[in-house]
Amino acid sequence: MRLIFLLMILFMVSCQSDDQSAKTVEMYNASGDMVGTANLSEQSDGVEIELTLEGLDPGFHGIHVHENPNCEGPDFTSAGNHLNPEGDDHGLMHPEGSHLGDLPNIEADDDGQVEAELIIEEATLLDGRMSILEGGTSLVIKEEQDDGVSQPGGDSGARIICGEIKKDDEVDVDDSPTDPTQFNEEQDE
Ligand SMILES: [Zn+2]
Repeated sequence: MRLIFLLMILFMVSCQSDDQSAKTVEMYNASGDMVGTANLSEQSDGVEIELTLEGLDPGFHGIHVHENPNCEGPDFTSAGNHLNPEGDDHGLMHPEGSHLGDLPNIEADDDGQVEAELIIEEATLLDGRMSILEGGTSLVIKEEQDDGVSQPGGDSGARIICGEIKKDDEVDVDDSPTDPTQFNEEQDE
């Protein structure tokens, strides 16, 4: 128990770094190729994303902020679930929704390119409960479009592109330790 407590203190201390109001995220596909960038900036109504991507199938794709700053291909399950600090249901059209990390679908043109501007409403890059940067998260693109209501992820299919959102000075340690016991087990290895 004491070890877990110490690790939690260490984690909290390690998070007390400088606030950032902008962040460029590199986006990678399942083969590990960089296929674009997401420029994040702090706005009064949330975090703006300027997204540039290439190499997608033409048409609509789901895009979500996930809870772990960890993009391990090819399936990107390491990114965890949609970021959901408020415990809501998934979906921008769901009456009990939505996750903080839920976003409108993006559309790739006939050449497979995406140029989009999105707002993650109510999110912030500054520290706090609604932060997408403190502790780290990830931005994940899906193979199919998000239907806006199905649980848990809008029936949007496989994760095809992922980018880690984390502070510049953060060492690449591990998943965000939302489960201290799991963190503890990994320390024992
Ligand atoms: Zn969601």
